[in-house]
Amino acid sequence: MTLVFATNNENKVKEIRSMLGDHFSIITLKEAGIDIDIPEPHDTLEDNAREKSTVIYEMTGKDCFSEDTGLEIDVLDGAPGVLSARYAGEQKLSEDNITRVLQEMDGKENRQAHFRTVISLILDGKEYQFTGVCPGTILTEKRGGKGFGYDPIFVPNGSDKAFAEMDMAGKNHFSHRAKALQQLITFLKDAVNKPLS
Ligand code: IMP
Repeated sequence: MTLVFATNNENKVKEIRSMLGDHFSIITLKEAGIDIDIPEPHDTLEDNAREKSTVIYEMTGKDCFSEDTGLEIDVLDGAPGVLSARYAGEQKLSEDNITRVLQEMDGKENRQAHFRTVISLILDGKEYQFTGVCPGTILTEKRGGKGFGYDPIFVPNGSDKAFAEMDMAGKNHFSHRAKALQQLITFLKDAVNKPLS
């Protein structure tokens, strides 16, 4: 089975490809010859994920999925949340987003947070959603040079390393995206064995 993955984020493509094995394969937007900045106009991850998969399904007519991820910090009432990409402005710069989080968290003792990923799959024209959550803590300064986004300031529960200090397999062991993807894979395996009505 081949699905279009509705994203322009090469880091997400790499992570997801590293987990797929031979369960199914993905075509990126670039590989499908689609060059658009997909809108994220809604105030929930669920609605933004659905928006992205729907736009690409309407353009291609092919089975596809998208994902939307947010970093939700307890002491900031869930911010940056759905605004994670644009927390420090429309330029969507990770460095600036991290700087803003560290500023907002300055002096805060409660460092608990979680990443949440919502995958929206459109299969045979019908939408399904899968959610993965990774709890952890926010560091007081950046660590590591791997990964992307907020990885240098996030340590998942059960590890003493920041995501940015782990290789991809290490991050996949804990990550929100890996958990959501695992549910998608299980669902697709069932769908292949038992065609959906
Ligand atoms: P979006 O899902 O592409 O809208 O991502 C929202 C924001 O969260 C962006 O700034 C991403 O860089 C960041 N982000 C998404 N996934 C991860 C992750 O796995 N680790 C760290 N940051 C992430």
